[in-house]
Amino acid sequence: MIYIFCAPSGSGKSTMVQHLLNNYPNLFELSISCTTREPRGQEVHGREYYFITPDEFKARIENNDFIEYEQVYEGLYYGTLKQEIKRIEQAGRQVLFDVDVKGGINLKRILGDRATSIFICPPSIEELRRRLEGRGDTSPEMIEKRLAKAETELADMKYFDRVVINDDLQHAFEQLDAIVKGE
Ligand code: ADP
Ligand code: 5GP
Repeated sequence: MIYIFCAPSGSGKSTMVQHLLNNYPNLFELSISCTTREPRGQEVHGREYYFITPDEFKARIENNDFIEYEQVYEGLYYGTLKQEIKRIEQAGRQVLFDVDVKGGINLKRILGDRATSIFICPPSIEELRRRLEGRGDTSPEMIEKRLAKAETELADMKYFDRVVINDDLQHAFEQLDAIVKGE
């Protein structure tokens, strides 16, 4: 099974994905996307993302390397490489995708029953702002852009197979465990 995780930025999607990676050793692996944004904090090329230039990104589009890609924020491109699914499945693991909401809907459409799409829902927009500010790695301008986008993303929750409300963290982990055990 392939799991597609989507959420407005700051909802706790990385926290959920990390929970699965930490608690089910050797069962899951995260697909590494390409992005044209700069690395943040401790991020490393080839671990969180393949950080590439806009020209390299364009070349990869022309080469048909992406299963999907999006201009997630103005001027910033993110894309999922077809090769990542092969790489992870050949290693005998289940693929986790952490993509934006539009990308997740596209991936689910392409992968069909091979994938379960999971929407991580924040308890409120105010809490989303607090989490983004608390994380301390995103500029105030980008926080505003992300919050503006969150409003429309929440409206797309209905297209997902499962919704996990990330209010109390422990409770959210339990909901997620129940989903992966159910599959
Ligand atoms: P995303 O990957 O969706 O952008 P993160 O997983 O980075 O979000 O979470 C955003 C911030 O909120 C992080 O600082 C994280 O530790 C915190 N966080 C995640 N889940 C919760 C929760 N249930 N309660 C409080 N803080 C949380
Ligand atoms: P961040 O810059 O916070 O790492 O990611 C911003 C957004 O881009 C997140 O919602 C993340 O899930 C999304 N994203 C990361 N990789 C991809 C991808 O390959 N495709 C799409 N469509 N979105 C992605």
